[in-house]
Amino acid sequence: MSVRRAAFIDRDGVINVDRAYVHRREDFEFVSGVFEAARELRRLGFFLVVVTNQSGIGRGIYTQPEFDALTDWMKQQFAVERAPIDAVYFCPHHPVDAVDAYRRVCDCRKPAPGMLLSAGRDLDLDLRSSVMFGDRVSDLQAALAAGVEHRFLLGTDGKCPPDTTLLSASLHSASFRNLLDAVLSPEVQRIAHAHSNVAVEGS
Ligand SMILES: [Mg+2]
Ligand SMILES: [Zn+2]
Repeated sequence: MSVRRAAFIDRDGVINVDRAYVHRREDFEFVSGVFEAARELRRLGFFLVVVTNQSGIGRGIYTQPEFDALTDWMKQQFAVERAPIDAVYFCPHHPVDAVDAYRRVCDCRKPAPGMLLSAGRDLDLDLRSSVMFGDRVSDLQAALAAGVEHRFLLGTDGKCPPDTTLLSASLHSASFRNLLDAVLSPEVQRIAHAHSNVAVEGS
């Protein structure tokens, strides 16, 4: 029996520079090293699953078709870089500031775990041995609530180390400047190989 694991990856601040409500290609600047990191995660056997709060849709700043078009383009860039993304989950809601049907308390907006749980069902993932990479505490809280054991806090936009002072030690495994630093770290490499040994032994 093999273990299907995901690398859950936040979008804004991790994949692209967080300019707040990024919805146009010309504002979508990839964080340095993100393609190399994604290739390495795939090599290590992780499914690549993006989980992103997109309340800009609910707030009426951009439309879901605009988000979908940008997402298609983003996925294309990863595919060209030989690091195809397996799935993208997004939450368009906001409990207060969204309009009409988008204004509600949902179970998908991080820190709620809904997007990760959906991915777990859709892709038949072992959530416990999956990993989360995010630049906000809410990313780690969502992963914790979904039962994801390994949670890494990254510096926003890959430029500076994350501020861990407000973070309880139990919430994250380690912190790194950006996704590539995290993926190449002994911590992530050890997790990947530990679980791949389990998979080989059980197959
Ligand atoms: Mg973020
Ligand atoms: Zn939602």
